[in-house]
Amino acid sequence: MSGVGPKGREGEIFPGQSPAPFTIDNQRVGVGLFDHVMTLVAYNYDGQIPYQAYNYGNYEGNEADLQAYLESGRGPYAQYQPVSILNYRYNSDVPNGAGPSDGPYYGPRTFSAFVLLLNPKARGLITLDENGNVRFPNIYMPDTPEGNADTDLMAQAVFDLIQLFEEDPGLSIAFGPGSPSHPTLNPNSLADVREYVTSPSPVDGVYYSRLIINHWGGTAVLSDGPGGVDPETLILRGTENVAVVDASLIPTIVPAHPVGTIMAVADRAGDILAARIG
Ligand SMILES: Cc1cc2nc3c(=O)[nH]c(=O)nc-3n(C[C@H](O)[C@H](O)[C@H](O)COP(=O)(O)OP(=O)(O)OC[C@H]3O[C@@H](n4cnc5c(N)ncnc54)[C@H](O)[C@@H]3O)c2cc1C
Repeated sequence: MSGVGPKGREGEIFPGQSPAPFTIDNQRVGVGLFDHVMTLVAYNYDGQIPYQAYNYGNYEGNEADLQAYLESGRGPYAQYQPVSILNYRYNSDVPNGAGPSDGPYYGPRTFSAFVLLLNPKARGLITLDENGNVRFPNIYMPDTPEGNADTDLMAQAVFDLIQLFEEDPGLSIAFGPGSPSHPTLNPNSLADVREYVTSPSPVDGVYYSRLIINHWGGTAVLSDGPGGVDPETLILRGTENVAVVDASLIPTIVPAHPVGTIMAVADRAGDILAARIG
């Protein structure tokens, strides 16, 4: 909408419309969109050991864990390390299961195991409909001519998760392959697990795969050129006075929650722009 964009790709960015050509050509604006993508399997726990979801907000009680994280980046606060992360449902004292509390897959000892793809290969375009609204991007394990690397990796990871949890006789799948939600899929077959992760969500109101994570970025990246944003000045190439200071300048996906990185970008950008403004 700014008039800055990849000249020649107007038809892709405004599909079905007759857009005016971009006034300023920058081939790396509006392209390269990324996000994380997630799949879940929900479990029942029938074992003897009482379990309790880890309460990340209990800073006093978790003093030792916080300290371990600050000192060496270890423990439950090091998210996306090999730790178990369980969620509480808002306004409830039971751990989070799949779907609503009165749904078929929810029980007091149910929990969801999430597999989050932190470094997906898929990249997309920002495209706008006739009303100027951003259209849903095709970046969540898309079927592409280049291959299905994201889907392959997700299927393998969900398969491995299922195999790992199968070693615990107290755990049974409440929502996922082999459960009432997907009774014909065999949890011990990689092909069937692949079908699970690519099947359309939701089933019985449960969204379980190709989940958007809202960690977008990459649509006006720092680059040595041509196109993109000049790392020295943060000025969008093709313009003289448009600086980019947000997640869109991140050239490679952040393999974690991105807000810390974005705050660091903003802090550094403040220095760069203050020097420019004098
Ligand atoms: C539901 C949800 C949950 C998330 N959870 C997490 C999380 O747990 N951890 C994490 O790290 N990240 C999380 N994220 C991602 C994180 O919020 C974003 O990555 C981050 O906010 C992006 O920062 P930004 O500065 O690039 O853009 P934004 O935070 O989107 O800021 C853009 C700003 O520009 C303003 N703006 C837009 N157009 C104009 C205009 N024309 N003129 C003036 N102002 C304008 C907008 O109002 C907005 O304030 C989540 C995102 C969502 C949507």
